[in-house]
Amino acid sequence: MSWVTELARPEILALEGYKFAEWEPELTRLHANELPWRPPGDDSHAGLNRYPEPQPKALIERLAALYGVAKDRVLAARGSDEAIDVLVRAFCRAEFDAVLICPPTFGMYAVAARIQGAAVDTVPLRAAEGFALDEEAVVRACTSQVKIVFLCSPNNPTGNLLDPKAILGVARALAGRALVVVDEAYIEFSGGESLARYVPRHSNLCVLRTLSKAHGLAGARCGTLIADAEIVRLLKKVIPPYAIPQLTLEAALRLLEPSQISATGLRIAQIRAERERIAAAVARLPGVLKVWSSAANFFLTQFADAGRALARAREAKLLVRDMRGHPELPGGVRVTVGTASQNARLLRAWTTC
Ligand code: PMP
Repeated sequence: MSWVTELARPEILALEGYKFAEWEPELTRLHANELPWRPPGDDSHAGLNRYPEPQPKALIERLAALYGVAKDRVLAARGSDEAIDVLVRAFCRAEFDAVLICPPTFGMYAVAARIQGAAVDTVPLRAAEGFALDEEAVVRACTSQVKIVFLCSPNNPTGNLLDPKAILGVARALAGRALVVVDEAYIEFSGGESLARYVPRHSNLCVLRTLSKAHGLAGARCGTLIADAEIVRLLKKVIPPYAIPQLTLEAALRLLEPSQISATGLRIAQIRAERERIAAAVARLPGVLKVWSSAANFFLTQFADAGRALARAREAKLLVRDMRGHPELPGGVRVTVGTASQNARLLRAWTTC
């Protein structure tokens, strides 16, 4: 066993995973207590009366090819949300271990930790330097209780990419001590490079990717953890055996056809262009104090009166996200880039803010 899996909870290391019904599609299934008929209206390929294939081979192959990594480094999950949850459950002992996060950041890392009964340590991003990662402070703050450091790049809600050298510096410094999980949910919009190719060199580096954002498949729920093969093997004992529903599998396989992948590239370019246009227009509005430059499909703004901006948007039947709950973001409102006409509606609603 490598040192990286030794960081996991001893109960999980010792756990014998659930023995799911054998997956042999060429044989007739009288072994999984399913009905032999499809339900009405079922036009799925495999039949929704059947349990789906655990960690479906075809999906794992497509995801590995999409992200340029080996198949044994890929775990498919119901969104990256589930991958976050499974990591925390496998590595953090309740009332003993901790995760470390860099606020302001995505809320699920702390929620998953609290559900597990793990503590949440924080090292804020450096607001004055465009929310840059404080590499030295993160390493200093990692006590022996910290089992996972969550870094989000591009960061939600600030939109900036974290310096890859700083992330890899943290992974190097924490070798033997903690996992460094880099959440790249929005990386496709950044033009930057994924850190997935560094996973083979740093066994404690894990990368989260998702089909929810740039690929437009949020409703299907399909996320990917890219990690050391031993970590993937361990997490397969923790994730439910039939995690990926059949309809999700079929939707993801359709989406990952080569012709669809090039269409995804065009949509990403469109969102990036629209992001620059709308962010510049919002920055010129009288009530807006600041618009942060973004590498994602959203951007963060600071309003003199954020309550008024939220109300005006709602009157125009538009929802934007109130970020004032983050103490580092007074007047903060996050805007997801929509279609040109949706964005124009928002601009009109905000002309009087
Ligand atoms: N990571 C980040 C940074 C996110 O913003 C989100 C969704 N808001 C997620 C992960 C969850 O994505 P998924 O749909 O893959 O669960």
